[in-house]
Amino acid sequence: MNLLDLTPTTAEQRVGELVKSGGFEKYRARQVFNWLWTNPIPAWDQATNLPRSLVTALDNHAPIARPFLAKRQDSSDGTIKFLWEFDAGAVESVFIPEGKRATLCISSQVGCAFGCVFCSTGTMGFGRNLAPWEITAQVRELHMLGIKPTNIVFMGMGEPLHNWSAVDTALTQLNAPGGFGIGARHITLSTVGLLPQLAEFAKRKEQFRLAISLHASNSATRQTLMPVERKYPLPELKKLLREFSRRTTLEYVMVSNVNDSDQDAEELSQFANDISAHVNLLPLHPGAGSGLKGSRHEKIDEFAKLLAGRGTPVSVRRSRGKDIDAACGQLAIKE
Ligand code: SF4
Repeated sequence: MNLLDLTPTTAEQRVGELVKSGGFEKYRARQVFNWLWTNPIPAWDQATNLPRSLVTALDNHAPIARPFLAKRQDSSDGTIKFLWEFDAGAVESVFIPEGKRATLCISSQVGCAFGCVFCSTGTMGFGRNLAPWEITAQVRELHMLGIKPTNIVFMGMGEPLHNWSAVDTALTQLNAPGGFGIGARHITLSTVGLLPQLAEFAKRKEQFRLAISLHASNSATRQTLMPVERKYPLPELKKLLREFSRRTTLEYVMVSNVNDSDQDAEELSQFANDISAHVNLLPLHPGAGSGLKGSRHEKIDEFAKLLAGRGTPVSVRRSRGKDIDAACGQLAIKE
């Protein structure tokens, strides 16, 4: 049994059963449960408050699953990239400190099936889905290193909604009080817009944030950047987002002479205003995507002004970790 693959509520029940069947005192269940996510430990023999016989029972019936830290890269700007190796495949996470906020960008799949042309992970093709424990192990392992992210974004390798059932459980582990207890408003799921699964995500009651990888404001341009546009075109996406009653952010990578014209700004502004969304303008990360050139900084600022002038809330993001392979997929490909 892998307790870390379950929701905290189910894990607590299983721990209770295990403790009972072994003839241990009832209060031991809470002690065991606390070592899963609240005070994570690498192995049961580190559980200082448990009797030896219970440690052995846990080792036999519910060993703690862990990835191997294959590589760590520290950037001069504080960004840290981790490469985690699982039994089959490796994924990345990126830790991005910024003032009081410490964001961890996590992966949900090995590789990705969606082939967005500006994305390194897209060039890898699809490997496999991560299990819930493999998604949240990226947070658990950092806690054990003394690094506690305040915010989580599903913007690493993979399309989280393409692995919805595992991501669904992982969201609960991240948010639940018996899990990592990270507030829902501090957890953002970023997607290219898989409509059926997006509708499922919208049913969750917690106020998780949603980010849409938009990157174009009309279907023709979006098709050249993101093959998913053929299956789930922008007008249908917009219709669904209109019904989504939570704050949505539109992610927009600025690509020179592809999506950075005044006309693009006008269309993007219209799209965002129609669904009351915030726009994040992102520079194209060096090394991500082939044959594409990022828009100049001045161009990005002009574009932002055009959006703001039309009443669209907009932020311009900086590229972080330029001296390490911090763009999604770069390190995994290199390794
Ligand atoms: S941007 Fe996201 S969905 Fe697109 S290829 Fe990269 S990981 Fe996949």
